[in-house]
Amino acid sequence: HCSRDGWEWTKQQGLRQGVPSIGVIHPPTRLPATTVVFDVIVAGAGYTGLTAARDAALAGLKVLILEARDRIGGRSWSSNIDGYPFEMGGTWVHWGQPHVWREISRYNMRDELEISQSYDGGVNHFTLASRDGNKSMSHPEEDALMESALDKFANVDGNSGRVIMPYPHNAGYNPEVWKYDKLTCRDRIDQIAGTLTADELCGLEGYLLMTSGSTIETMSFFEFLHWWALCGHTYRGCFEYLIKYKFRGGQSSFARKFWDEAVSTGNLSYAFNTPAAQIIDHGLEVEVVSKGGQMFRARRLLSAIPLNVLGTVGFTPELDAERTAAIKIGHLNQCVKVHAEILNKELRTWSGIDYTTSKLVYAFGDGTTPAGNTHIVAFGAMRNHLQPEEDIQETLKSVTALTSMDVDRLVFHNWHKDEYAKGAWFFPGRGFISSYHTALRARHGSIIFANSDWAVGWRSFIDGAIEEGTRAALEVIQELRKGKSNL
Ligand code: FAD
Repeated sequence: HCSRDGWEWTKQQGLRQGVPSIGVIHPPTRLPATTVVFDVIVAGAGYTGLTAARDAALAGLKVLILEARDRIGGRSWSSNIDGYPFEMGGTWVHWGQPHVWREISRYNMRDELEISQSYDGGVNHFTLASRDGNKSMSHPEEDALMESALDKFANVDGNSGRVIMPYPHNAGYNPEVWKYDKLTCRDRIDQIAGTLTADELCGLEGYLLMTSGSTIETMSFFEFLHWWALCGHTYRGCFEYLIKYKFRGGQSSFARKFWDEAVSTGNLSYAFNTPAAQIIDHGLEVEVVSKGGQMFRARRLLSAIPLNVLGTVGFTPELDAERTAAIKIGHLNQCVKVHAEILNKELRTWSGIDYTTSKLVYAFGDGTTPAGNTHIVAFGAMRNHLQPEEDIQETLKSVTALTSMDVDRLVFHNWHKDEYAKGAWFFPGRGFISSYHTALRARHGSIIFANSDWAVGWRSFIDGAIEEGTRAALEVIQELRKGKSNL
């Protein structure tokens, strides 16, 4: 089935909106014949909502999922085009991400991962578009450059950040760390500028933009340190954890496992294409009114809606001042992710960073399509922002600015314009986590808020979504269990 989400451009057919995905649920609605009060309504079927709905349904609760889109997966989904899953959002997973790995082993999917990069044959090099022209380096030279730059950047304590943030699943373990939430990444670069070579600075700036999808002048240095600590305080770790292992069948093949298991309980009802517009907490019951005017009732409401979208939903009683302020500020990430299917086989082993002029900053060979073509994935950020569907010639120019290539197909999802995401993965500005993290995690009467955007561990990752869905489901199960002996 074809989703409304996503775009595809080919030389032959031009630009088309909507791409096929195994994440599309058809038929889109399964509701009881008569009006019922559900145990819990889960608003949002990304990994947070899918995990929560599955766990609650497995525990015997009557669950209703309300999802604005026509598909599961939220910010992580794959398009199935000519037998190949282009990843539109969240992609890479790792066994060091505890919640993700628990699910991968639980669903027996260990054999379904593959490695994105290849260093076998072809050009086998890295291009750095630096301020004094394009440079070609070997991949080991690329690693050495990035390792040196990132380590200087993160080394605030003489031990590569291990003293300041020893334990990222309790980021404030050393309370000294909070002072770094007062800094942006630009502030930190200014502190170490004299120690970086011109190439290191270029590589670092490109890398930071890929991390945050925002601007170096606004992104929080604390949040970067959190990622760095999660990745074992090394550049090697960042590479291994963040961009190496992905599902051969695409993210939607993973999301389907959660979905199919939840459906198999017989306890799940659902309505896709049904955005929650008003959420009214009456105390013993919560009422949800959809954008189309349908009404649903449950004993608890679990909102798995992302931070940047929460402002579009009305809550009664009103949300507290702190959460309201956090929603108003939102997160900064407006990453642009563009896939290119190209005829140049030799570029399968290529990677590149262009921090100078291109609207796409970081790119690398990500796979080989069934047609035998190379698949390149490219990332851009808020700085020098690209709206890929608005001007395909500009997008092609941005893709080929990194290195020349013969593009046959482009595939992308414009997360910036997506009204149910309003951005990509969570990345905050300075001070945001110190000021609002606790408020975002708090509940609001019978409404529980869960999303990767305010997870504790792998915040902003798929792992964080599963962490949050697990937490929220347990909270609801334990509360409702008190009143029901058969659960
Ligand atoms: P979401 O996935 O955003 O789910 C929220 C759901 O709520 C959506 O389905 C949305 O449609 C729905 N919704 C919104 N409003 C309403 C409403 N009013 N009513 C009902 N439903 C509503 N993570 C990784 O681990 N690895 C990666 O490689 C990686 N790369 C990424 C690349 C990109 C381009 C993007 C965008 C994200 C990436 N991420 C990655 C992050 C990861 O995708 C997210 O952190 C994670 O998927 C968030 O899951 P979630 O369920 O918390 O939120």
